[in-house]
Amino acid sequence: MNNPIKTIGVFTSGGDAPGMNAAIRAVVRTALYNKIEVVGICRGYEGMIDGEFIRLESHSVSNIIQRGGTFIKTARSERFHTAQGRKQAYENIKKENIDAIIAIGGDGTFRGALAFNQEYNTPIVGIPGTIDNDLFGTDFTIGYDTAINTVVEAVDKIRDTAGSHDMLFFIEVMGRDAGFIALRSGIAVGAEDILVPETTTRVEDLVNKLRFDRRNNKTSGIIIVSEGDDLGGAYKVAEQVKMKCPEFQTRVTVLGHVQRGGNPSCMDRVLSSTMGYEAVLALLDGKSGVMVGIINKQIALTSFEKATKHHQEINKEMLEMARILSL
Ligand code: ATP
Repeated sequence: MNNPIKTIGVFTSGGDAPGMNAAIRAVVRTALYNKIEVVGICRGYEGMIDGEFIRLESHSVSNIIQRGGTFIKTARSERFHTAQGRKQAYENIKKENIDAIIAIGGDGTFRGALAFNQEYNTPIVGIPGTIDNDLFGTDFTIGYDTAINTVVEAVDKIRDTAGSHDMLFFIEVMGRDAGFIALRSGIAVGAEDILVPETTTRVEDLVNKLRFDRRNNKTSGIIIVSEGDDLGGAYKVAEQVKMKCPEFQTRVTVLGHVQRGGNPSCMDRVLSSTMGYEAVLALLDGKSGVMVGIINKQIALTSFEKATKHHQEINKEMLEMARILSL
């Protein structure tokens, strides 16, 4: 059967995540191997609407597998929420002779891809690129592993100071709606408590735990707080604890954007390469409207509808385990 796809457009959208470059590289090289041309659509949906395209050759993606960020840029686009914006985007990709698209981003990106896919017949396959790891349909998203390693490295350093000065640190990590970054990094640093958006935080419980730690000769501590915790982030939690326990020397560190950048970890490079490769194969196989994922080491394709409707659930048993291990 003749392959109807002659040119693939690839873009990154939403927040940048380490490994996006490695995924673009894999898309380009796999497509070229299959005699398909590749066009980079700069700045996500914004570039699609404004017609910002660059031809990507094999050498265009040399020396980027190890770089964080995304060399074709990313953006959030208000205009793509409108039918008019999507129409303009479609007209541009037609003019550019792009017959299929690979979208790298988070759930918002796939909501956009779903809307586009329902209106126009250009095949689209998605690759989950977000440090939050909150997407349904894959065990891990691109960038998550690097982000948690960044958190671990930073908290290990803070632990030295906390121990030397008998301080209690509240460290805020990314995660507005999901606690995956907090949970995994919290376990890895041996945090005294981990506060996530998925559970209700009770200051009383936290204070009881910290007092218990003091009685057991723990003179310092690390509390990992997701930015979306229901108490309102690390500053708010620290304030409430300090009111109840003025004897604690409390400090707050907000890690912020340092968690987004940096060279992708080995795991993220391999994950991105595999997903980029599989996304091209999925298009060649006639698939559209789906996100590539890896579940239990197997490639899995999940419809945009499902991937955006559901959320990956945090493992609450691991939260319980972390509490026990920190006693
Ligand atoms: P991250 O997880 O890093 O935030 P994301 O892909 O979820 O990444 P968003 O800003 O939520 O990031 O979404 C990226 C873009 O997708 C938006 O700026 C918008 O252009 C488009 N988008 C999101 N939802 C829709 C929608 N319902 N209809 C059309 N476009 C959408």
